[in-house]
Amino acid sequence: MTFLGMPSRGPGPGVAPAGSPLPAGSPAPAAPGGGVDLSLLYRGPLASCDYDCPYCPFAKRRDTPEQLRADRAALERFTGWVADRAGTGDTLSVLFTPWGEGLVRSWYRRALVGLSRLPHVRRVAIQTNLSCRTDWLAEADLATLALWVTYHPGQVGHERFLAKCRELDRLGVRYSVGVVGEPGHLAAARRLRAELSPAVYLWVNAAEGRTYTDAVAADWQALDPHFGYSRHAHPSAGLPCRTGESVLSVDGDGTVRRCHFVRDVLGNLYDGSYLAQLRARPCPLPVCDCHIGYVHLETLPLHEVFAGGVLERVPHDWRPQR
Ligand code: SF4
Ligand code: SF4
Repeated sequence: MTFLGMPSRGPGPGVAPAGSPLPAGSPAPAAPGGGVDLSLLYRGPLASCDYDCPYCPFAKRRDTPEQLRADRAALERFTGWVADRAGTGDTLSVLFTPWGEGLVRSWYRRALVGLSRLPHVRRVAIQTNLSCRTDWLAEADLATLALWVTYHPGQVGHERFLAKCRELDRLGVRYSVGVVGEPGHLAAARRLRAELSPAVYLWVNAAEGRTYTDAVAADWQALDPHFGYSRHAHPSAGLPCRTGESVLSVDGDGTVRRCHFVRDVLGNLYDGSYLAQLRARPCPLPVCDCHIGYVHLETLPLHEVFAGGVLERVPHDWRPQR
C-alpha cells in the first residue's frame, strides 16, 4: 500500500473556510433495499510488507506466524459479516487499507474474489503495491473489484511494474496507479505516465512533511491534474464529513470508528452497536491530510470528482489524456 500516515502538513490556501457544526441526528443514508448504504475501510492487524520504502515504518517488517493467523482470522470474520448482510437490504462497499501489503497473502486475495461476487457488495478494493501475481483476478467479478495501486520506484523496476499494469489491462481490472511525490520519483513517474495506458489515472500523493513550491507542484500537477488536493492538508475542524454516517473505519476486532484518524469508538461491527451511532457529525480534528479521509469531506467536491470510483481513486470523468 501507500503508507498513509497521520496528518502532518499544515493547512494550505484555497480550501474551504471553517463552517458551523452539523445538526445532530441526521439519519444514515438508506440503500434502495431499505437497509443502509455503507462504505467500510477495513484495516486488520497485518503490518508486514515485502517492500522496503524509505518513507514507511512498515518497510520490510515481518509478522510472526501468530500475527498472520490472527490477521487471517480477523479478515475472515469481517468477510463473513459482509456476506451475512445479504438479504438485509444493506449495500456495502469495502476498501482494504492494510498497514502492510495484503495481496501477498492468500486470504486477502480470497476476500477480494469472494466479496466481488456478492450482489449486495457494490465495490471491493484494496491498496496494494502490486507485487503479487495477477492470475487470481480472473476469478473475480471485475465489475465490482478494483485496485488502488502504488508504484514505489526503488522497490520495483519500471519494466516489471509496467508489465503488471499491462496484465491488469489485459484482464480488464479497474485500477488507479499512484506515486508518492518525492523529488527522486519524478523521472520515474513521468516515464510511467508516458507508458501506462492513457485510460488509467495516475495520482500523486504529496510526501509527508514536504512542502512544494508552485514550480515543483506544477511538475506533479502535470502528471496528476488533481495533485492540488493532496498538496496541502485540508482544514476540517467543525466541517461536515461523511465518515461516521455513510463511511466507517473497521479494525480487526470489529471496532468501528468514523475514520482511520479519529480514535473515538462508535461501536462494534459484530454486535451491531455501531448502527445506532450512524449519523452526521462534524470533524473533530484541525486538519485532514490523507486522501482516504478528505475524499469524504463534504466541503470538497471529491465525491463528484471521483463519483463511481471514490474508494479506488478513479476520477469519474477520467479519459485518455493523449
Ligand atoms: S509498499 Fe510496503 S514499505 Fe512501501 S509504503 Fe507500502 S507498506 Fe510501506
Ligand atoms: S475530515 Fe473526516 S476523514 Fe478526515 S479526519 Fe475529519 S472525520 Fe476523519
